[in-house]
Amino acid sequence: MRLIEIFRSIQGEGPAMGRPATFVRLAGCNLRCQGCDTDDRTSRELSTEEVMKSIQSRMIVITGGEPTLQMEELSELIQSLHAQGKEIHIETNGTNPIEKDILEKLHYAVVSPKRGSNFHLPFWAEKKNVHLKFVLGKAPWCWTPEQLHDAVPSLEKERTWIMAYGTDQNMPEARDAWDLALSLGVNYSDRLHIRLRRR
Ligand code: SF4
Repeated sequence: MRLIEIFRSIQGEGPAMGRPATFVRLAGCNLRCQGCDTDDRTSRELSTEEVMKSIQSRMIVITGGEPTLQMEELSELIQSLHAQGKEIHIETNGTNPIEKDILEKLHYAVVSPKRGSNFHLPFWAEKKNVHLKFVLGKAPWCWTPEQLHDAVPSLEKERTWIMAYGTDQNMPEARDAWDLALSLGVNYSDRLHIRLRRR
């Protein structure tokens, strides 16, 4: 599989915020979000066996880029991790469905739909091990408060998250995301790795 990096860190956002994990960042994405901080210029090819040798943590976060673009390799990796009893999380933009038998092996998927993309919201919303994370912000791919007021009430609150766009430590829009999450009765996600200048 084409991969950017494997590293140990602490999950800084979403439902597993604060938990230690090994991150497997796959290369390539089908979207071009303004301000995207994923750089795949140094990506390399690794086999599933090579990736498995680099993983020691119990919890694994497969991220990108967009990991579902390499579905065959992704499925093989998930099956290998599952066979070892790992807790598997995946982060995706939701533009590609994941087959039922692979999705069932995940602790959960965090789907972060980007405004204007083809993200299959009904498909994801009905899956019990899927969390939906909407990024509030002014960038063209982020969501406005008005759009979230329309979209969020039909979703299951416990599995819905609002997070502020932020690549700067102060995250000026975090308070707006907090207030909006509170008014809609859904979860707020910070970005701890950005605040603490960690990855
Ligand atoms: S979907 Fe994610 S990885 Fe892809 S361009 Fe957008 S922010 Fe970057």
